[in-house]
Amino acid sequence: MKKVVLVKPGEVRVEEAAVPEPRKGEILLKVHNIGICGSDIHIFQGLLPFVRFPVVQGHEMSGEVADPNGSARLKKGDRVVIIPRTLCRECEDCKSGRDNWCKDLKILGVHTDGVAAEYVSVPEYLALKIPDAIPYDVAAMIEPLAVTVHACNVAGDLAGKNVLVVGAGVIGNLAAQAAKAKGARVMIAGRTQYRLDYAKAAGIDFCVNDQKEDLGEALKREFGGGADVVFECIGVETSVNESFLRCRKGGIVIIAGIFGELQRVDMFTLQDKELIVIGTMLYLKSDFEESIALALEGKVSLPPLITGSFPLERFQDAYAHIADKANQVMKVMIKVL
Ligand SMILES: [Zn+2]
Ligand SMILES: [Zn+2]
Repeated sequence: MKKVVLVKPGEVRVEEAAVPEPRKGEILLKVHNIGICGSDIHIFQGLLPFVRFPVVQGHEMSGEVADPNGSARLKKGDRVVIIPRTLCRECEDCKSGRDNWCKDLKILGVHTDGVAAEYVSVPEYLALKIPDAIPYDVAAMIEPLAVTVHACNVAGDLAGKNVLVVGAGVIGNLAAQAAKAKGARVMIAGRTQYRLDYAKAAGIDFCVNDQKEDLGEALKREFGGGADVVFECIGVETSVNESFLRCRKGGIVIIAGIFGELQRVDMFTLQDKELIVIGTMLYLKSDFEESIALALEGKVSLPPLITGSFPLERFQDAYAHIADKANQVMKVMIKVL
């Protein structure tokens, strides 16, 4: 089978490898689709210091069970997604169901090898069945959707709330859709028009290009002032400070962006407004289940966000396609099967 290895930053190699033999507690999966994530690009560029090379990338995945290896829950041919992290399953947080806090959590494709191959062997507990009505490419978007569903759940009940999403990339778009599905009125702000157009097409209430329009004015017009809840979905200090600025007094700011270094944040505004600032990390199994239900019920629109696909052996071309600013890119898929 083919397997894609990131030998070192910037160098992808397609290798021939034996189909892995599932060990005890593992299942063998035939990989169908792999979504490429912002974090994959950062690893490819060598920007995440804790990643050791060589590494097999890929964590947003759909596939089918090739060998259930004695699983009581799964059979050959079952359509699945994986929750791409391994857990100790013994610590207090694992036992209490807060397993995204597990002291020994490892993300596939980051801390340990990922799924960029024709077959992968993974712990059985990572796999979740998906309904036939969700195609494999859409299923590979359940993982980023679950990131945003978790962020929404961290924020509490969003029904009737005025929500602002700062950043209109894939995570921003999905956060806006998830918040709307949970009953919020949603404004999304960004500077790249085509990304805002995707949000508009998905039915987001207010899409503001903050290069062309004053975001404060737009908030005053639509929400009567600052947002009740702001989702920061970029991961730079200016967007954190923008989020503080655009949140109402006593409001909640959820930090969903991924940061590369220490940030200088506006503590004065945070304190003055008595803001509640909450970090969010990954997801729980329940967020994945909720995401599968949202996709199935059509409460979020995922297929339009898939803007390109490449075969497994062209992984590096997919990265080049994403990096080329001339392309209007949202989610790019590696179509293995
Ligand atoms: Zn991802
Ligand atoms: Zn644990």
